[in-house]
Amino acid sequence: MFNIEQIRADFPILSRQVNGRPLVYFDNGATTQKPRQVIDAIVKYYTEHNANIHRGVHTLSREATELFENARRTVARFVNADEQEIVFTAGTTDGINIVANGLKLPHGGEIIVTEMEHHSNILPWQLWCERNGGTLKHIPIDANGRLEPGALKTLITAKTALVAITQVSNTLGVVNDVQAITRMVKELSPAEQPIPVLVDGAQSVPHMQVDLARMGADFFVFSGHKVYAPTGVGVLWAAKKWIEGLQLSKTGGGTIKTVSFDKTEYVEGPLRFEAGTPHIEGVIGLAAAIDYVNAVGLEKIARHEHELLAHATARLNELPEVEIYANHLDKAAVISFNVKGAHPFDVGTLLDKYGIAVRTGHHCTQPLMSHYGIPGTVRASFAMYNTTGEIDVFIEALEKSIRMLL
Ligand code: PMP
Repeated sequence: MFNIEQIRADFPILSRQVNGRPLVYFDNGATTQKPRQVIDAIVKYYTEHNANIHRGVHTLSREATELFENARRTVARFVNADEQEIVFTAGTTDGINIVANGLKLPHGGEIIVTEMEHHSNILPWQLWCERNGGTLKHIPIDANGRLEPGALKTLITAKTALVAITQVSNTLGVVNDVQAITRMVKELSPAEQPIPVLVDGAQSVPHMQVDLARMGADFFVFSGHKVYAPTGVGVLWAAKKWIEGLQLSKTGGGTIKTVSFDKTEYVEGPLRFEAGTPHIEGVIGLAAAIDYVNAVGLEKIARHEHELLAHATARLNELPEVEIYANHLDKAAVISFNVKGAHPFDVGTLLDKYGIAVRTGHHCTQPLMSHYGIPGTVRASFAMYNTTGEIDVFIEALEKSIRMLL
């Protein structure tokens, strides 16, 4: 059973007040709150096990190493991958940069992204294009915020070097069928050199079961903090051939077998990419967050969040002043909207007075904002601990805000 009271009790921050009202936290697309189980795992690590990992023979170091490497196994199981393909990073942005800086792609190549992409999955590729005489192309979206069907086929050419695509849009909540897209890319690739596909999973991992063995992509990245784990930690999954073949963009302690002034021999596997002391407590916190999500169950989380999406969409659609972008229910629990005639910042600022946290602005998707011809939106993004009651509080506050603004 999905016990919402129990879940809410696990998140201490949810009992605080903001501006004299109970906090209503609808900014989960930016970052999620952390359950007591994650906070406790970090406190326990520092209270009982803190030491640097991998090279120590003493007890604390061995304990910390075991916690760290167990976390790699937890992550691998969570996304159905081999633990030797799981690289710990600083987050989604870091993971994409590691790939963009490490892939040897042909000079003058074309990179295909989408119109709904987060800046973190545009800028590293734009930089690659600037440095390598490449061209950045994008798949446009249709009136429902979905990728134009058929566009990918026309964009792929003999020069296509890579396709980088988000699984879920952080601004619209729209879900891309990355498995079908990957299959199509591979079918249209030259047999001797399949075009690599990178999938940005920052907004999918918290809301749906990800199965990397089925997806067929080459790279998958996500951030811990959007899935109830600490900030500053994330995951790059790279298929085995890339773990071996990707060039290093940063190097240093922890990545080597032997070093002399003439030559360095690097270790095999993910440690090659984890130069320097990693975010040990972050990785341990990430494993605790995944354990928590698994205990609740991603299917139940998805069902609950879909109910929230349906309720909020129906209530917002009752307000004639409100315009929703990608106004349908076939998506993750994210709603971007505007109040016609009001600036999103003003709407967000007034909602904060009622204790309601929403995000306003371009959500790091300026090309998508240009598509709609708007400076930004108000975005309500839901998590497992949100309730329909909170949505009703939000709608009431929004109605009051509209009366004040218009
Ligand atoms: N991609 C998407 C789809 C995102 O939503 C975000 C975070 N808003 C990022 C990338 C960047 O994540 P991070 O800031 O954790 O690196």
